[in-house]
Formats: sequence, structure tokens, C-alpha cells
Amino acid sequence: TKEYLKKKLDKIDGKGYKAYKDLEGEYEFEKFILYIDHVQGDPFAPPSRIRVKVPQNIADFEFSMYNNPSRQVALEDFLTRSVFEVIKRLPSLKGTGHSGDIYIDKGGQQIIKRSAMVVNKDYVEARLSIGLPAFGRRINSSGAQRIFLEFLPQIVEKSLLKKSLDVQDIWLWVETVEDQDYLRSQLKERGLVAFVADGAILPRESGISDRPLKGGNVVPFESPDSLRIKFQLPNRGEITGMGIPEGVTLIVGGGYHGKSTLLQAIQKGVYNHIPGDGREFVITVADAVKIRAEDGRRIEKVDISPFINNLPNNVDTTRFTTENASGSTSQAANIIEAIEIGTSLLLLDEDTSATNFMIRDARMQKLIAKKEEPITPFIDRVKQLYKDNGISTILVMGGSGDYFDVANCVIKMHNYRPYDVTQEAKKIAEQFKTNREVEGNNEPIVIKPRIPLKKGLEVKGKKIKSKDEDTIRFGYQEIELDYVEQLVDKSQTNAIGEIIRYIASKYVDEKSSIKEILKKVYKDIYEKGLDEVSSFYGKHPGNLALPRLQEVAAALNRLRSFTVK
Ligand code: ADP
Ligand code: MG
Repeated sequence: TKEYLKKKLDKIDGKGYKAYKDLEGEYEFEKFILYIDHVQGDPFAPPSRIRVKVPQNIADFEFSMYNNPSRQVALEDFLTRSVFEVIKRLPSLKGTGHSGDIYIDKGGQQIIKRSAMVVNKDYVEARLSIGLPAFGRRINSSGAQRIFLEFLPQIVEKSLLKKSLDVQDIWLWVETVEDQDYLRSQLKERGLVAFVADGAILPRESGISDRPLKGGNVVPFESPDSLRIKFQLPNRGEITGMGIPEGVTLIVGGGYHGKSTLLQAIQKGVYNHIPGDGREFVITVADAVKIRAEDGRRIEKVDISPFINNLPNNVDTTRFTTENASGSTSQAANIIEAIEIGTSLLLLDEDTSATNFMIRDARMQKLIAKKEEPITPFIDRVKQLYKDNGISTILVMGGSGDYFDVANCVIKMHNYRPYDVTQEAKKIAEQFKTNREVEGNNEPIVIKPRIPLKKGLEVKGKKIKSKDEDTIRFGYQEIELDYVEQLVDKSQTNAIGEIIRYIASKYVDEKSSIKEILKKVYKDIYEKGLDEVSSFYGKHPGNLALPRLQEVAAALNRLRSFTVK
């Protein structure tokens, strides 16, 4: 009980920090059970991990607030943010190192399944981290008593019981997420790959902030008549916006008119966003993959031959391996790997593409004969990708009109407003022929799934651990994910580290492909929860947020020791 906890705390006051270890265990409070799962060794070590479990009959959330996966994620997200808000207003007990910190992993603008909160029929459980209070390296017992005996009950009281929360706000969260998931599920049926709602706010505060840009100069999204469509959402009712059809779509327009901003909103549209974000109803098919050049990355036996052939020194491009890819080979590999794992939409921006991968105009074709140029540019594959593989493309291209020939939809951005200029572009394409030769062959792109070997996933030296949002330490190596743009949360990176460890210990049988292995992992996660992949199953599992299959595969593909058959 909590009296027992108080006694323990009294006993260790002023002792060396290690004596905190005695606290590990569970304690019954009036309205919740406290689990102290892991106690840090000193004030500078990562904070201690605790869980607070409130029986559902006390928390009292109506079943309809979490009775399907969309609603459950939404309610869990809402409660996590509520806990965060309460923590923010607690008095600070900051001492040495992390001591005095109370933390919950609330995430950013996206609403993603995360380990910080679990809601089910039996209980609501919050997973917190606490820097146990210290004076220097000595135990500050009265601080710890305040946290455990005063703050935790307050957190529970104010943020985990339905009666203390704004029920309207809860429903706003739950219904918005449900509408977002519903809209995403309807895209295919309507022949669309993305939807951008009228009134959406696309620009962000800054290059390092994912919050909406504010102020009088922000132009809300307004769809062109010809592309405007309606959806009937289960909660919000009718919504209108721009539907981007399957096939090949170009986003054109002058520099600084909002092209990249539109594409960036679309690439994040694979996730749901919190009410007030501005991108709540920018919705993209869930398996869309942003493709970019990424020179310097490693490539492991990828068949990039649909794009690149006849490299100097007779290098085999059907099983292309390099420690140091070029702009074009990296971009080709990124596409092939996306197809290997499964995608129905590629997103490309001229700003982050290799020019020679994107275009090769008539004059260059005259000067450099096809047999001297290893690259089949994307322009000569993009239609085929749709026709043969069912993979659409949305491409930002302000710099070359050659793409008019292959696009079935052309959207012009002007002063942050979209215009449908498809007919105009087609007319121009008729009038001004490019005179280029179509390159490449007409053979469909068929990808042989690669089969990972065990030895490539052995961890030498230290453990697998994420260092920051874009880096996972894997033994002595680092997996660099800076250019994996659809990774949006540090806790997703954490989860990817755990998933790789899980895969290595469980599913690498040297017969299954990367995709088959990942399918098994996701089946486990859907059946048993995100905690399943944690090395601390049954306790506070660490701060995890669910990544997409695509990002896990991206991490494997960037692991330098990764090897396939
Ligand atoms: P482009 O790719 O066409 O060159 P960007 O998308 O990079 O242009 O946008 C240029 C600038 O305009 C960015 O700073 C962006 O934040 C801002 N911006 C984009 N869309 C809007 C909008 N709807 N309202 C206000 N500012 C915007
Ligand atoms: Mg741009």
C-alpha cells in the first residue's frame, strides 16, 4: 500500500541514491495501483520507469469512447496529452541531473499508437518516467514523497478520470480521428490517392517546428472547382476538398508559391493529426512513400536495373551493392525498396531529387547517346509504374515541362492556391513537342523480394538504442534515418530499434523475405499490442510509437551490416 511506500521512503532519506532501488514493486493507492518497474542507478541515468493503473470502473470512460481501433488510439492520445498538461503545472522539484523530472511521452502533431497510455475495458494505464529527487547524489525523500503521494494522485484525479475531463474535448478527439481513418479508407474506392480539405492550413511555423503557421498571411487551402470533391464523414458530416486522382500528378508553379509545402502536407497525411493542427483532413493513402536522393547511403543487393544499367566497370545493377550511393542510385534504390515492401503512391520533390534521375532532355540525348548513359530517367518509367504496378506518383516539378507528356493531372500553385491546369499543359505538350526519345524498355518492373540473413542483424558491442529522432545505435554502428522523411516521432525511432531486435531474435529464418517478416511483426503488434516488441514486456515498455512498415524497412535497408541472400 501507499503507507508501506511512505515507510520505505522515510527509511532511505539522505542515503546514497542506490538505496532507491528498494522501491521497485507495486503499491496500492485509493484509486490506482502504482508500479515502480525500474529505478535508475543515479540522478544522471535515464529516469525511473513507473506505471499508474486505474481500474476502468473508477476511470469510468464509456466503452463507446474506445470501442474501435481509431477511437482507442484517439482516447489514449487524448489522455496522454491530459497527463502532460497536468504535469506541466506541477511545482518543480528539479535537482541534480534528471532528478525531479516527471515525464510522459505525449508525441507531437500526429496521433499515433503509442506505449505511453493503454485504455481497455479493465483499466487505464499511464506509463511515466520520473527522475527520483536528489540532493547531489543523496536521496531527497521528502521530494520523492511529494511526487508519489501527492503529485501522482493529482495526476490521476485531474487527467485519468472521465469526470474531471472535458467530455466534449474527448469526443472531438475521438470523432476527428475516426473521421480521418474513415476518409483514408475511402480513398481507393473513389480512385484517389490523397485529399486536401478546403480550409486546411498547410504551412508550418518553421523548418524545425511542425506546428501550424499563424498570422494574417496564412492562406487556407481552397480547392479548384474541377478537382473539388465531397466526402460524407461519419461524425463531422460533409467535407469538401481537392481529390488527387490515381495516376501521375504534377505540382507546378513559380518558386516560393507553396509547391513543396503541399507535398510535405501530403506526405504526412499518412498519419492522423490533432484537432487544431490544420492538416486534420489532409489525408493520404497509408502506404505512400516519399522518395528522395540520399547520396552516401548504403545499398544491399537491390535490383535497380529498371532505372540504372551499364555502369562503368560492368557493375551488376540487378544486385546493386554499395557503401556510398550516388544521388541517382540512391533514389533508384529508394523506389525499388518502396515497391518491394509495398506502396501505391510515390511522392517526389524536385528540391530533393537528383536532376539526372528525373529528366534527360532532347539536347542531352543528342550529345550523350543512350548507350553512354546508365540512367533511365524517372520520366520514362512513371507511367509504366502506374499501368503495370498500380503505383501512382505525385511529383513537384517547377523546372521541366517534359513531364506534361506523362501526367494525367497538373496542379499549379499560385500564391498558395491550387489551380487545375491539366488541359493547358496538355495543349502546350501538343504544341511544343519535346523531341525526346522515350528511353528504357517496356518490361514491367518486377521485384524479387530479398531474404535477410541472420549474420547481418547480429549486434556487436553495445545494445540497440535510439540516439535521437534520426539515429539508431546498433552495436558499434549507427543507422542514419535523417532522410527518411516520414519518420515523425522519436518514439517511432525507439520502436524501430526494438522491432529490429525482435525480428532478429524471432523471425529471421533465412527463408522469409523482409516483407513477410514485417507482416508477422505487425500481426503480433495488432494482436498483442505495441508492448510486445519491447525488451521490457510486462513492465513499462519504454517510450514507443508505432512506425509504419515502410520506415522499419527503411531502417533495415540503411543498416550497414544488413545482408540478404
Ligand atoms: P515552393 O516549393 O513552391 O518553392 P514552398 O512550399 O517551399 O514553395 O513555400 C515557400 C514559403 O511559403 C514557405 O516559407 C512556406 O512556409 C510558405 N507557405 C507555403 N504555403 C503557404 C500558405 N498557404 N500560406 C502562407 N504561407 C505559405
Ligand atoms: Mg519547393
